[in-house]
Amino acid sequence: MENLTIDGKRLWDSLMEMAQIGATAKGGVCRLALTDLDRDSRNLFARWAEAAGCSVSFDAVGNIFARRPGRNPALPPVMAGSHLDSQPTGGKFDGAYGVLAALEVVRSLNDHGVETEAPVEVVVWTNEEGSRFAPAMIGSGAFAGIFDLEQAHGLTDTDGKSFGAELERIGYKGEGCGGRPVGAYFEAHIEQGPILEAEDKTIGVVTGAQGQRWYEITLTGQEAHAGPTPMNRRRDALVGASVIAKAVSRIGHEFQPDACSTVGMMQVYPNSRNVIPGRVFLTVDLRHPDDEVLAEMDWSLRHTAEAVAKRGKLELKLEQIWQFDATPFDPDCIAAVRAGAERYGHTHRDIVSGAGHDAVYMAGIAPTGMIFVPCEDGISHNEIENATPEDLAAGCEVLLHAVLEKAGGR
Ligand SMILES: [Zn+2]
Repeated sequence: MENLTIDGKRLWDSLMEMAQIGATAKGGVCRLALTDLDRDSRNLFARWAEAAGCSVSFDAVGNIFARRPGRNPALPPVMAGSHLDSQPTGGKFDGAYGVLAALEVVRSLNDHGVETEAPVEVVVWTNEEGSRFAPAMIGSGAFAGIFDLEQAHGLTDTDGKSFGAELERIGYKGEGCGGRPVGAYFEAHIEQGPILEAEDKTIGVVTGAQGQRWYEITLTGQEAHAGPTPMNRRRDALVGASVIAKAVSRIGHEFQPDACSTVGMMQVYPNSRNVIPGRVFLTVDLRHPDDEVLAEMDWSLRHTAEAVAKRGKLELKLEQIWQFDATPFDPDCIAAVRAGAERYGHTHRDIVSGAGHDAVYMAGIAPTGMIFVPCEDGISHNEIENATPEDLAAGCEVLLHAVLEKAGGR
């Protein structure tokens, strides 16, 4: 059978139109979860999905489902999608690509008059980024039963606004969440790393995601005057935090080639030039594809933090606020992605996802696969994030193939 085509230009144009919502001066996107701009992007998506003949609904955490009926309504849907929220200085493709590639699959099925056995649902997950409301991947996590609704609705941003109230305010608080079978889930995404580009491969056949642990650390010392307080009398929380930050980097270097470790946020109190810092809040992000190694990294972090606190006479509060284990994807879904790349003649390689994605939570409740396409210089979570129309179209073809494999429509 001949390969079904997708419309690469329509996909690109939709991406560019979506990127107008929250567009930044440097060519990126700022569309934080549950803001007015997030609402606008949701409305645009819903309008497009309805125009493509889908029925659109949303659940209690604001996940949107655009359903294209199948021949057999009793079959669980095959889902494809990603997220529309972004980092404060995010790019045009992270998340939006997975959503609009899935929409392009539906549009293409319409163009070709293809009826699938199972329904196909394009899904938009809420608050994937975890930037405004931590932790990340709340929408897919709630759908998969990782977070309960109370937990999700109770999250607050730095202004003290709650997830639940903001969701209601933008008009996307529906009823119920998850608890229904999903035939398969596929997510297309830019790689957000440099490997595909460096090896000149078009498609990353994602075999799974690495494990992650997120921590929050508060070090408390004593605020004091920067002049009259002798060095040996100080309990400087920032000095302790700096040693921890350096140790976190060392831990990442120690467990190469696969480990990653980051201190991404540090808040200093009272943050005044002539006051010895009395308190510092910092975050730590540790990642590794092997759970045993990740446990060693965890031990190393705790050990170091305790030693630093003791030496600096600081009070230490170290909390692991989030984690997920390394997640292998479903062999059949992986095979469907690989077969799609072969079928459409795209170069490909297997790859492990370095980032967290909604697919990681979905893998716990449904057969799941992911498709990566290259992004320029491997840069993402940055306004200069870029990808070529050709690669994005290629990933969409592979997504179409994978969805048809699982939904039955050939
Ligand atoms: Zn993303």
